[in-house]
Amino acid sequence: MLERPTKFGEFRIAGYKSLTSDEEFVSVFKGELSENIPTPVRIHSQCLTGDVFHSIKCDCGLQLERAMETIAAEGRGVIVYQHQEGRGIGIINKIRAYALQDEGADTIEANTRLGLEIDSREYHQCVEILKDLGVGKVKVMSNNPEKLQAMRDGGLEIVERVPIEFKPSKDTQKYLRVKKFQMGHLLNLVS
Ligand SMILES: [Zn+2]
Repeated sequence: MLERPTKFGEFRIAGYKSLTSDEEFVSVFKGELSENIPTPVRIHSQCLTGDVFHSIKCDCGLQLERAMETIAAEGRGVIVYQHQEGRGIGIINKIRAYALQDEGADTIEANTRLGLEIDSREYHQCVEILKDLGVGKVKVMSNNPEKLQAMRDGGLEIVERVPIEFKPSKDTQKYLRVKKFQMGHLLNLVS
């Protein structure tokens, strides 16, 4: 498979289609992947506003960059990119939710007021992709306990959790507090 040049060095890329839905996944990875080598991995949920447009309302874009930097430095690792935008509500609903957040709602209240789920993301197919690429022992770059649990349930051995945390800014503070205190994310929120 060809190496693709990126700002963070050479990576390989592979696409996957779900057998049970119309969902598509992309994996960006690097180095020798083998069941017995502890490998940095991240399941990254699409955040168009953060990943592409560099919104600083959330920490997604920073997390994606940090994951690529970590993999580049280690010479090995995998990012599985899942298109479950806005914790599963889709980009248009996320833009609607942002409008409610501007009126004072937090990220959970906004989804609820729109009649949408708070978090409908599902990770088991991402875990299947990690295993398909040959990974067995993982150093998980995530603060999300549900992603960690999905990896355990899928039979991956978590040898380390690598926190992927940034100093809260005035723009991210409220969002990160909701993530920590209402969604159980493993965040220190040191400011
Ligand atoms: Zn985001």
